[in-house]
Amino acid sequence: MADRLHAIVGDGITALAFLETCLGQGFRHVTVIGRNASQLGRGIASAKGAEGAPWRYAYLLNSPADDIDPEFAAWLERRWDKIAETMAGRQPDWLSAAQPLVAAGDIYGVNAPREFYGDYMEARARDVIKSLSAEGTKVTLLNDVVVGLSQGTDMITLSTQTGQQLDVHSADIAPGGPDTMRFEGDDGPFSAPSVFGYEDRIAEHITAGAEIFCIGGNAAMLDVLRLCQSLIPDERLKFAFCAPEGEIPPPLVPRLPRKQTVPSLTQGHETAESFLSEIRREIEAAEAAGDERREIRAGFRSYFLETPLDQFIADTSEASKVSKVLRFWLRGGTRDTIFDMRRLVGAGAVRILKGRVLRVEATSTGAAIHIQDHDGSVSVEPTGFVVNCAGAGPGSTFDPLTADLISQKLIGLADGGGLAIGANCRLGGGEIRYLSPAVTKIGRETVAMPLYDAHMLRSYVSRSAKS
Ligand SMILES: Cc1cc2nc3c(=O)[nH]c(=O)nc-3n(C[C@H](O)[C@H](O)[C@H](O)COP(=O)(O)OP(=O)(O)OC[C@H]3O[C@@H](n4cnc5c(N)ncnc54)[C@H](O)[C@@H]3O)c2cc1C
Repeated sequence: MADRLHAIVGDGITALAFLETCLGQGFRHVTVIGRNASQLGRGIASAKGAEGAPWRYAYLLNSPADDIDPEFAAWLERRWDKIAETMAGRQPDWLSAAQPLVAAGDIYGVNAPREFYGDYMEARARDVIKSLSAEGTKVTLLNDVVVGLSQGTDMITLSTQTGQQLDVHSADIAPGGPDTMRFEGDDGPFSAPSVFGYEDRIAEHITAGAEIFCIGGNAAMLDVLRLCQSLIPDERLKFAFCAPEGEIPPPLVPRLPRKQTVPSLTQGHETAESFLSEIRREIEAAEAAGDERREIRAGFRSYFLETPLDQFIADTSEASKVSKVLRFWLRGGTRDTIFDMRRLVGAGAVRILKGRVLRVEATSTGAAIHIQDHDGSVSVEPTGFVVNCAGAGPGSTFDPLTADLISQKLIGLADGGGLAIGANCRLGGGEIRYLSPAVTKIGRETVAMPLYDAHMLRSYVSRSAKS
């Protein structure tokens, strides 16, 4: 092992989790190549915000801190005074929203600003690098983008955007999820294709008093609401969103003492329908017993991490139907923002439309959104400014390296969507590991709940190292 060279592609939490698995491996040199590798651990979700921007620290983690990682929750608690100082006087008033939890001694339960999670991950990366260098493993962080990968007999060659070539014995690839799906007209004078990176443009319309209309009703839509709240008081807010289910996701509310639902499910199902009816029964029993969505979701997540879906239902195409439904049944979102959203719906400041957006049209004063409802009829909804928050879906594109690995047949396309990789996250002969939120199948296992979840990603990486 002593002479082995290893590379990690990516700079987010998955790349950092891969770096952690290098401890004790005796590599001579590990090179981490990411767009922003010098801030390893942040990735896209926990990027550092612009200094002085009103929306800096506005975007929150969707789950209580200890559901993301108990060690992060402890880190947050240790720094609470500093965090309270940073967050004082900001709009929306995060400290007031956190206050009931803080008063109950439950800092572990707050929805932390994602930038703080990035701070924690960066500090963690520094510690891991220190431990690796104490073991004699040199770590280099390279701000660059890998554009090609080829496998020779003994070595893997990575080529980068800046023209470097790196020969390594093994590599881990963590490039993040695919782009959000696009809609005709979503990047126009009154529309933006995403919230992230377009805040300045969206902010102009928010402060001018336009209605802000989100395509999609999940996490990114909740971020847009926080962006609006950071700029104008709630009394001036005009907000709308359209999603197929036409509902606000349930909030993930922590309670003390923490508990998790413990499902009891039988094995040997032949169809998704029979397994789903059992799961439905368990969810309803938990709800009847008073369990919160957080408890049910965390309980099922632990259960399926312990006992993968293929142990209940062997047919992979039936298993993929199960995971699609579970994604909806167990969905949940940021407590603070969903409480605000419910209040604002009650006050008439937020409208919710049910249906599928087809396209966006610019008008002389704003936008018109073409929406198809469940029986196929199309209506046209006028609004001020549209933000695409739809997330990954049909037509989304993968990053170029993933697209290349798919074309080399090192990564497959799973039944029912998403990426299929080998057991223990291995590709090809086994010297390459890969993991991203877009993965839905790992070896024989169809992932029961989506990997758009920091805890799940870290769990699968750590498991891939033990086997
Ligand atoms: C805005 C947002 C908010 C989220 N909020 C939550 C949340 O609250 N809770 C939760 O559990 N999960 C959340 N998620 C889900 C999230 O995807 C994961 O939790 C996690 O952050 C994903 O980490 P990652 O390292 O796999 O990918 P990413 O964070 O996407 O990092 C991948 C990185 O690799 C870089 N990269 C890609 N290709 C290359 C290449 N060829 N060469 C070099 N570098 C490359 C990318 O630029 C990117 O920075 C969120 C995701 C997003 C996008």
